[in-house]
Amino acid sequence: MERWALFLVLLFAASLALVALVSPPREEAAVVVALDAGHGGHDPGAVVAGVREKDINLALALLVRAKAQGKGLRVVLTRSTDVYVDLLERVRGAESAGARLYVSLHANYHRDARVCGVETWVDTHAGEESLRLAECLQRAVVAATGAADRGVLRQTLYLRHTTLPAALLEVGYLSCPAEREKLLDPRYRERLAEGILWGILEYLRQAAPR
Ligand SMILES: [Zn+2]
Repeated sequence: MERWALFLVLLFAASLALVALVSPPREEAAVVVALDAGHGGHDPGAVVAGVREKDINLALALLVRAKAQGKGLRVVLTRSTDVYVDLLERVRGAESAGARLYVSLHANYHRDARVCGVETWVDTHAGEESLRLAECLQRAVVAATGAADRGVLRQTLYLRHTTLPAALLEVGYLSCPAEREKLLDPRYRERLAEGILWGILEYLRQAAPR
């Protein structure tokens, strides 16, 4: 190859590399998912032995958002601090942010301390997509944590006020001493957050492209 031709090829390669370096990350291509840390502010949720549900929910939501970086997701939170947000505002905010799905995070309570495990709820009238989201979450979180699988269940929820695929994940029972201990353990929280993220990614992988 002529020397000038080689020079041109090198110049071309160098400019390509430069473009790749200065191009902003493709944020706009990210799928938006809404994550809700249940309760907050004046509403602590369940409180057992000084452990407040609202704090567990928020810590997990922040952890999932951090782990979602670089996975093609943009996680929008309904709250990122210890404040109470109206339930309808939470789903409206998710919708106006362009979210593809809505996941609400909670920790559970039962009078019987022997009741332990993970369960996922959908609204009584939830459609197929919400049910599929709930099943993906439940499966992934149980696999990531080894927690008892209490399945996907239905009850009347505020999630009926959104048309987004929506599920409410109960990550464990604060009233179950062993589970409460785990929910305070940073390593267990890491696994939980990974499970939640896998569940969301698995749901999106199966979902028809829009
Ligand atoms: Zn709750």
